[in-house]
Amino acid sequence: MNKDFQIIAGPCSVENYEQMDTIFSSINNTNYIRGGAYKPRTRPTDFQGLGPEGINMMVELKEKYNKKIVCEALSVEQLVHFDDVDIIQIGARNMQNTPLLIAAGKTGKTILLKRGLASTVEELLSSAEYIKSTGNNNIILCERGIRTFSESSRFTLDIAAIAYIKKHSDYLVYIDPSHAAGDSSLVQALTLAGVVAGCDGLIIEVHPNPEVALSDKNQQLTIEEYNELYKKVNKCLEII
Ligand code: PEP
Ligand code: MN
Repeated sequence: MNKDFQIIAGPCSVENYEQMDTIFSSINNTNYIRGGAYKPRTRPTDFQGLGPEGINMMVELKEKYNKKIVCEALSVEQLVHFDDVDIIQIGARNMQNTPLLIAAGKTGKTILLKRGLASTVEELLSSAEYIKSTGNNNIILCERGIRTFSESSRFTLDIAAIAYIKKHSDYLVYIDPSHAAGDSSLVQALTLAGVVAGCDGLIIEVHPNPEVALSDKNQQLTIEEYNELYKKVNKCLEII
């Protein structure tokens, strides 16, 4: 793997210690593990995440396995729990939450800023300016699919956005094929398309047993599927 290309892998949600220990111990081809402790769910009756307890599990395992961790913050108040989180994710639903952009920026940590599901690329770039205005230039932008009339996938991955952002800015651009696809059987195609289009990294949902996942069960890859995809990503990186 090209050393500048990064993959962030792990489940949608941190569910329990055993699940996360399996992920940390078996995903050996990347140093970055994701896991949501605060979940932006559509319905209040859906699993909302373990909160600080989930972050603590990630931190304990990051030390045990010498990895880095990526977690999403939904609000400014939650940031007090993110001291040992390496990359703070600001999700699609919060792309224009300006107090959160500023407070996250002020931590000085790397911010993974996802494109809103109905936001233009120019709006994404403008949101990134809020983070930058705090003096923090450690910003990764993430194309995670937008709402269109297409019913082929949950959201439509905007492949052109990768090239557009790279043409008009210096930001790193990752893609999130999992949330775009909404369906694990589509994740490989979207991933490889994004890699060939020139993205700088990936954030992919991987679960030890997706069938019993407490969130996004349809789109998460098994560890075996992820490892197979990893090999194909490397092949694509060789040809570009
Ligand atoms: C996530 O990555 O867990 C997530 C909720 O993604 P998005 O904000 O892109 O929907
Ligand atoms: Mn998810």
